[in-house]
Amino acid sequence: MQLIDKIYIDGAFVTPCGDELFDLFNPATERVIGRVRLANARDARDAIAAAKRAFPAFSRTDKRERVDMLERMHAAVVAKEDELYEAITEEYGAPVSRGRWMAQHASNVLLETAGVLRDYYFLRRAGTADVVMQPLGVAGLITPWNSDAGFICGKLAAALAAGCTAVIKPSEMSAIQTRIVTEALHEAGLPPGVFNIVTGRGETVGAEISSHPDVAKLSFTGSTAVGKEILRSGAGTLKRVTLELGGKSPVLVLDDANLDAVVPLVIQAGFMNSGQACIAGTRILVPQHRLSEFEARVQEEVARIHAGDPRNPETTVGPMVSQKQWDRVQRYIRIGIDEGARLIAGGEGRPEGVDVGWIVRPTVFSNVSNDMTIAREEIFGPVLSIIAYRDMEDAVSIANDTNYGLQAYVFSADAKRAREVASRIEAGRVLVNTLAHEPAAPFGGFKQSGIGREYGTFGLEAFLEPKAILVGL
Ligand code: NAD
Repeated sequence: MQLIDKIYIDGAFVTPCGDELFDLFNPATERVIGRVRLANARDARDAIAAAKRAFPAFSRTDKRERVDMLERMHAAVVAKEDELYEAITEEYGAPVSRGRWMAQHASNVLLETAGVLRDYYFLRRAGTADVVMQPLGVAGLITPWNSDAGFICGKLAAALAAGCTAVIKPSEMSAIQTRIVTEALHEAGLPPGVFNIVTGRGETVGAEISSHPDVAKLSFTGSTAVGKEILRSGAGTLKRVTLELGGKSPVLVLDDANLDAVVPLVIQAGFMNSGQACIAGTRILVPQHRLSEFEARVQEEVARIHAGDPRNPETTVGPMVSQKQWDRVQRYIRIGIDEGARLIAGGEGRPEGVDVGWIVRPTVFSNVSNDMTIAREEIFGPVLSIIAYRDMEDAVSIANDTNYGLQAYVFSADAKRAREVASRIEAGRVLVNTLAHEPAAPFGGFKQSGIGREYGTFGLEAFLEPKAILVGL
């Protein structure tokens, strides 16, 4: 049982003014494993003030110095990889392979950003003018629980690469992971105030950051509902805003697809991160004439999935992060049944033989129509919908008939044809015959999946403002 009673302001671990204690759980055992003392609005203001004081000097550091800092941060997070991996399993319940990837992603993203910065030119010419890409100021970075360390490091890397200073508000549910990342980043020896980490509630600390006049930029990852709230709070002072929000990603299986090769990828895309992934492929579009063949292959594939204890190396679907999330997913499974979708795998309750932990049965519905609730709303659990389509026009129209537009997947034996289909999909990323991530490519959503892009040069420029300098004789 650990007590986390420090936040990080101005280069030091300090006791927050806030005194609310919040329980931390192991979602595989449902036991309390720790407590975090939450920061309050005053702590957020102290953190913002520290970041503001640090900004003038930090914004004048040169590229080489900031690349060095990012490399030091990378080395410090690498050194904590095993500790972080343990926390990810214990506090979040990520299965072995996913947990390891998540622990490594946190450090990788720092090094990748160092590479982007090394190749980036802050000075350009436009006609007779010099255009300087100038850091925006203090950045408020607000992150969710489903990849705590990765989001903290990813957003912080881009902000610092640009020359911004930062106040980070991670999710209150992942405080153990946050503590480890904070300790690692402290080891990197950055100047005080350059980054500050205040774990607290969204409606207090998050709201203070998103409305405070000294915060110039907000970068938020989380739900669409909270993203809209943050956009409204930031509007008062016209903050620049990057929003990475929810998704309901379509997976287009074309009629020529080799199902033996494709179905395992489709299931992996749907159940990634135990279904708690914004990019999960949750609407699977299948040609009507191949529907029964596809369903049979899906049933075989899902039968092979082990859902349960994340420490069992065979497990690929671990628990939901909280009781609340488990209840929410159960509610959606019930809605799917009530709306007349046909269960072909899984269903309500826990998997057979599992009687503890917030674990959901990997669930697949067929006979889903795109207007059903389970096809429209983000469930954020291992619940997938198969939707049959008549022809390519129908498939593209169903794929785009959603409020979201974060990611899409296209699978076909003919890559050229798949690329043509990809060009018609309204999503920030379309993966054709692959599930691979490309850190140099922009990431973000169309429509209500967000505003702006992260990663690579696009992510760096989200923390910069162009300034034109015109000089007469
Ligand atoms: P959430 O929106 O509930 O919370 C995200 C963060 O916002 C947390 O730190 C929370 O404390 C804070 N917050 C809550 N209310 C706030 C307010 N009024 N003002 C400021 N901050 C506030 O999301 P979650 O439940 O932690 O995460 C799951 C959601 O995140 C899903 O919808 C998922 O799709 C989304 N997500 C998106 C991406 C992406 O890159 N697009 C990635 C991962 C998760």
